[in-house]
Parts: sequence; C-alpha cells; structure tokens
Amino acid sequence: MSILAVGSMAFDSIETPFGKADEVLGGSATYFSTAASFFTAVNLVAVVGEDFPQEHIDFLQQRGVNMDGLTRSRGKTFRWKGSYSYDLNEATTLDTQLNVFADFDPQLPENYRNAKYVFLGNIDPALQLKVLQQVIRPKVVACDTMNFWIEGKREALLETLKYVDILLINEAEVRQLANEPNMVRAARKVQEMGPTTLVVKQGEYGAVMFTPNAVFAAPAYPLEAVFDPTGAGDSFAGGFMGYLSSVDNPSDEAMRQAIIFGSVMASFNVEEFSLGRMRKLDISQVRDRYRKFQLLTEFKGVD
Ligand code: AMP
Repeated sequence: MSILAVGSMAFDSIETPFGKADEVLGGSATYFSTAASFFTAVNLVAVVGEDFPQEHIDFLQQRGVNMDGLTRSRGKTFRWKGSYSYDLNEATTLDTQLNVFADFDPQLPENYRNAKYVFLGNIDPALQLKVLQQVIRPKVVACDTMNFWIEGKREALLETLKYVDILLINEAEVRQLANEPNMVRAARKVQEMGPTTLVVKQGEYGAVMFTPNAVFAAPAYPLEAVFDPTGAGDSFAGGFMGYLSSVDNPSDEAMRQAIIFGSVMASFNVEEFSLGRMRKLDISQVRDRYRKFQLLTEFKGVD
C-alpha cells in the first residue's frame, strides 16, 4: 500500500554543538518520504519555490517518491533555522519563513485521492485538513505537529485532530497541547480530541505508544554519536507509517513493530546532518538494526 504524505520541503540552517549546516535540504515531507521509501511508495504533496534545485526532486524520485503532487510556486522555498544545545532532545527555533507555504492551496492529483494511508506531516493544520478532505476514504490517518502550530494555530489544529487516528508528537508538545504536565494524563486528554493512538517521542529516551487498550514503550537505539537530531521525528514517522502500510494491517502487533522501524530510521537519521545518512543507507542495514533492537529489549519473564 502506498502512502499519501503532505508536509514541508525546506532549506534548513542548523547549529549543533558539533557543527553547522547552512541551507541544507530538510522539511517534514522530505525526511518522512525518504524514510518511508525504504518500505513503500510515497505520493507526496508539497510546495517549493523557484530556488529549489531539481537535484533534490530527482533524489526523491529515485527513491520511489511520486512527485505529481509537488507544486513549484513563484517565490522562495520554506526556510527553518534551529539550534540545539548539548541536550539534543529539543530544538530551539531561531527563524521560520513560510514563504511559498503562506498561500499554498493544495490540490490533490486524481490518482492520490484513493489513498488508504495518509500522513499529515508538520505544516499548518489548516493545510493538513485541506489535504485530508480531498481523500475519499482513508484507512489510517497519522499526523505530526509542533509547538509553532500548537501556539499559533490551536483552533485549526483541534479541528484537524478530530479526523486523525494516530498522532505522533514529542513529549513537551503533548503536555503543551493538553495543558497538562503529566505525560500519561496528557496523552489521555489528547486521545479525547480525536486520535485514538498517540505516539509520544522522547528523543534519546525513545517513544511511548498509547493505544485504546495498551501502552507500549521502546527505547531509542543507544548511539555513541548523535550529530544532528533534525528530522528524527519525521524519519521516525516515515519508518512507522512505511512499515504499517507495507503490511496493511494496523494490528497491535504491527503497530509495535512499526514503532521499532520508526526508531531504527530515526537512529540512522541523527548520525549525520540533513539526509546524509539516509542517502547511504540500504534495507539490509535497516533490518540489521531492527534485530539489534530486539536484543536490546528482550528479557525473560519469571514465574
Ligand atoms: P523534526 O523531525 O521534528 O526534527 O522536524 C524537522 C524538520 O521540520 C526540519 O527539516 C524543518 O524544515 C521542518 N520544520 C520546522 N518548523 C516547521 C514548521 N513550522 N512547519 C513545517 N515544517 C517545519
């Protein structure tokens, strides 16, 4: 099953304690679709400006990403500037320039409208809803968001969430969205807003999934060197949704496996700036790290 994904395509400028990158390829849709492309085909919806190089589009196409839903508009591509301190779990946004996203009116190509798996990547929640409304009968709708929209577009976000099955969100943001300091209680509150499943990302500490009947927790892969956390959330979502749609069965067991594939993709992504690591990655390395994850969390019960 292919996935329909919408999100940002961006030029990112990033500073971490280990280095700097200026105007490199980024964006929620870019990270998501690259990670998901290891598992399935992706139909992308996004907008770029006149300054966006063709080589980045070619790269995604070579990875099996369908770009029929990409619009090239007059103006500049979305830009994001962020920094991280030694605590790499939280990005500080220094600048957000919506540019061509400010008046983007997404129109889905006809061949996208039958999508069963939909990922609403981090962009204006009003645009997320506009895309979703054009899908005829989706089976699984997943969504990501961030503090920028929780603060700036809360009402639109609450409206979009009514139609979402799975919300992927980081820990600080779930607290902010629910207005509740306890993570478990915050997750329960958000489940009442629409999404029956919540995946709370905790950076280097892993992820916790709240389904209607269970809670599942996975650690993050213990890496010796984390270079740049940008895109970890989106590559997590790409592995998660990519795997789920490839098995086309959102059972509890498949969702747990999907959490591990998400963690695997995020762990590779943070090893280099931009999409550097995913460009060199192959599926056997993905499977190998999945097996290592299994060993990491395996333990025997006692009577
Ligand atoms: P994450 O996976 O959460 O680290 O997301 C990183 C990506 O999100 C970066 O490549 C940014 O270009 C993109 N981004 C940051 N802020 C926004 C925003 N307000 N809307 C859409 N995309 C954003």
